Amino acid sequence: MKKITELTFNNTYRQLPDEFYHIVNPKPFENPFLICINPEMVAEIELEILGFNEIELAQYLSGKKLIPGCDPIALYYTGHQFGIYNPHIGDGRAILLGEVVNSGGDKWDLHLKGAGTTNYSRGFDGRAVLRSTIREYLCSEAMHHLGIPTTRALSIVGSDEKVERETTETGAMLIRMAKSHVRFGSFEGFYFRGLEENIKILTDYVIENNYPDFINKDGKYKLLANETAKRTGTLIAKWQAFGFTHGVMNTDNMSIIGDTIDYGPYGFMETFKNDYAPNHSDHFGRYSYKNQPSIAFWNLNKHFQALSCLLTNEDIQEALGEFREAYAENYLSLMTGKFGFKSFVDGDKKFIDDTLELLEEYEIDFPIFFRELSNVTLDADVNTSLVNKTGTDWLDRYKARLRSENSDDLKRKESMNLVNPKYILRTYIAEQAIHEAVENGNYSEIENVRKLLMRPFDEQPENEKYANEPPKWAKGIALSCSS
Ligand code: AMP
Ligand code: MG
Repeated sequence: MKKITELTFNNTYRQLPDEFYHIVNPKPFENPFLICINPEMVAEIELEILGFNEIELAQYLSGKKLIPGCDPIALYYTGHQFGIYNPHIGDGRAILLGEVVNSGGDKWDLHLKGAGTTNYSRGFDGRAVLRSTIREYLCSEAMHHLGIPTTRALSIVGSDEKVERETTETGAMLIRMAKSHVRFGSFEGFYFRGLEENIKILTDYVIENNYPDFINKDGKYKLLANETAKRTGTLIAKWQAFGFTHGVMNTDNMSIIGDTIDYGPYGFMETFKNDYAPNHSDHFGRYSYKNQPSIAFWNLNKHFQALSCLLTNEDIQEALGEFREAYAENYLSLMTGKFGFKSFVDGDKKFIDDTLELLEEYEIDFPIFFRELSNVTLDADVNTSLVNKTGTDWLDRYKARLRSENSDDLKRKESMNLVNPKYILRTYIAEQAIHEAVENGNYSEIENVRKLLMRPFDEQPENEKYANEPPKWAKGIALSCSS
């Protein structure tokens, strides 16, 4: 365990050529204070916080004091936003403080969001608001504990600085941790500017840091492309199976290591709706739940186009095939698990689709439906939200499918409860934590929810209320992409 002033850094991104970043220091808040710090990520970097002065800690975690060993930079990237290429993005309000290395050799980016303007800020203020940092903090932790690859959150530091969005809010900073902040968009700017040498440098960098198995292999770029495609396909399958809808799947929000990155107007599916699009500025539903797999495919296409100086057309087609396969295989196997089937057989795809159609038609809560489904027993009558509405036709079909593989009620229930979460980050749960923090300066609910979501599959009788459908006031909350 080390004090924050004693951490070890290896700032590899800073060794890349100048065009890859812009050197900039965080613009600190006047009176930063600690809102939360995540013990799991503290442990990950072996940070000793006990006995460390809290105000000083907040200063380090918000860039007012620079952690020794940090060498802050804002990262250059571009990307396709809502289908249109934007050559001017880059990290306009987030700064890579440095890459911390723990005693096991794991390297983590410490990435400070809301740290003030950078060269890429395009006239914006470079700040993040408390509301959006809480949403990111809670969701990335929730995702991790559902088993979905994601960036994570170390801390939130608050301030009394006013930040103008649709209304006046207060500023906060979040430290995001990830094994890489390279995005599809990190390559695109070099591609459109014809800087092939930089594409090669960045690709080699990614291989060296995140895909070391490929370093000495023949065809390493093709291997990387295949693996990126596979990871992306697997990631999106998980999003679909848990009902996670990202909201802004621009190419700059696609991680090269297959993490979920950049939590903005995301949402978890509650009442099932294929067209669910949590971002209220997404008027055409480009990034709706049902579109996520095809958008990921589209994004990969753009990514491989950017790598076309290193890949042949055949390589690209092969990698795209890897995506399709990884997505389909993982999606079907996850969905099969959600229904408690031992393995996927012919006809299951149709059964899955039909069931989702019924959920949509009868406006049924997605997580509750699957959690309740484990209560079905082959010989007794049972009520689930769906049976209540559709009568027993669907249930008979389900039971017949279970009987065909001699399903055991008890074993099935056990296995289903390991994959169908009882607790997800419903929008109203995040909103309540935000309300308490923003209106009342009470941050305890953030910690309550973080702890709740550390064990999403466990029964937690003391937390039963969080498993409920949203209260009336929260149905259909529209999420702004301002953050
Ligand atoms: P995002 O929508 O979070 O993916 O952000 C897209 C781009 O806009 C990134 O470069 C962000 O850093 C930048 N950005 C978003 N909000 C701000 C802000 N308040 N100030 C400066 N840049 C911002
Ligand atoms: Mg982004």
